[in-house]
Amino acid sequence: MTQPVHRPDPPERMCPSTPAANATVFLGMITPAGRVAYVTPQLPAEVALATAAGAEGPVESRYRLAGPCVTSSCGFWTGDHCGLGERLVASYQETTGSAEAELPRCAIRRSCRWYAEHGPSVCAACSHVVTDAR
Ligand code: SF4
Repeated sequence: MTQPVHRPDPPERMCPSTPAANATVFLGMITPAGRVAYVTPQLPAEVALATAAGAEGPVESRYRLAGPCVTSSCGFWTGDHCGLGERLVASYQETTGSAEAELPRCAIRRSCRWYAEHGPSVCAACSHVVTDAR
C-alpha cells in the first residue's frame, strides 16, 4: 500500500505594497530618485513605523510595506489574482520594452503575490512603486 503524499500548504501570499494598517514587513525605503531601496534581511514593519512617527505625510509615501494579501477585501483583487500586479507588468513593459535582468534583493520573494503571479518580470516594475504618492 502506498503512503499518501503530504504536500505543504501553499504559503500565505504577501502584498508587496500594503497600507501601514495591514503591514507586517518593512520592505524598503523610497529613495529621492523614486526607486525602492529594499531592506534585507527581513525587518518587521514596526521598525519603519517607529521611524516615521512624527514625520509629515503618509508613511506609505516614504516606505514600502508588505503584509498578508487580503484578496477579496482589496479593491485590486479581480476574483482570482491581483489586478495591480498585472497592470504594473503591462505598463512597465510598454514603457521600457524589457525587464531588467537583475532581480532586486527583497525579503519576501518566496511569498510575494506579484512574483507568484508574474515571475521576475514584475520585480523591475515593483522597484518604481510608491504606495501612496500624494
Ligand atoms: S515584486 Fe519582486 S521585488 Fe517586489 S516584493 Fe515581490 S518579489 Fe520582491
